[in-house]
Amino acid sequence: MTGALLRLAGVSRSYARESGEILALDAVDLAIERGELVAITGPSGSGKSTLLHVLGLLDTPSTGRYQLEGVDVSALGDAERARLRNQRIGLVFQAFQLVPHLTVLENVELPLVYRGIERGTRLDRARGALERVGLEGRLTHLPDELSGGEQQRASIARALAAGPDVLLADEPTGNLDEAAAEAVLSIFDDVHGAGTTVIVVTHNPRVAARAPRRYEMLSGRLYGHYHRPATEGSARTRPQ
Ligand code: ADP
Ligand code: MG
Repeated sequence: MTGALLRLAGVSRSYARESGEILALDAVDLAIERGELVAITGPSGSGKSTLLHVLGLLDTPSTGRYQLEGVDVSALGDAERARLRNQRIGLVFQAFQLVPHLTVLENVELPLVYRGIERGTRLDRARGALERVGLEGRLTHLPDELSGGEQQRASIARALAAGPDVLLADEPTGNLDEAAAEAVLSIFDDVHGAGTTVIVVTHNPRVAARAPRRYEMLSGRLYGHYHRPATEGSARTRPQ
């Protein structure tokens, strides 16, 4: 059990419903090494967001174990999970989730405020992150003064400002036109190229095709997806 940045072992997540229990994650095993670029695809309702929420410490497994850098984080309390999330994890969502009444620069500064970083350093880091995504000309704009693509780039800058170990993105191009989506994906390529681990959840096969390592979720189960030459077709196997 060494090496992996993120490791899930037998992770399930169930939700209680009037119609009975639903198993959103069903005994998921997954190990992701530092520096990987991973795509997770699958149809709507297959458990992709649930998986991302568990990996991002927004949710906890019902059963099974989650290790982050070898440390068991499966059963941490809310405060400790929030602290780790702030230090280690950058999150990007389909709907951007910027704070509407804060400027772009203030949005990107926010995680650094929670981290107790002093103002000068905060501003340097936030400006640096915004420059990285090509938004240095938009610092004092409010989110609704930006295009969708710019808002998503601002949310990526916010995720990167604190220097996370892993960037987790849930359908990051789902609300974007093709050109804006391309800009977002090329930022992910750069971030991965600079050594950060990137995990993208998407139902878009074209987004997934850019990742060297792919998984597919079907009804809460995770399958490794290996693309073979066309003549051989492709095969699915459960990882590990
Ligand atoms: P995806 O992101 O692949 O569309 P989700 O992870 O959002 O799938 O959902 C997986 C399953 O779990 C779906 O059946 C969904 O309805 C259910 N689910 C997700 N979140 C909740 C919740 N908070 N309460 C009840 N059911 C949920
Ligand atoms: Mg989803």
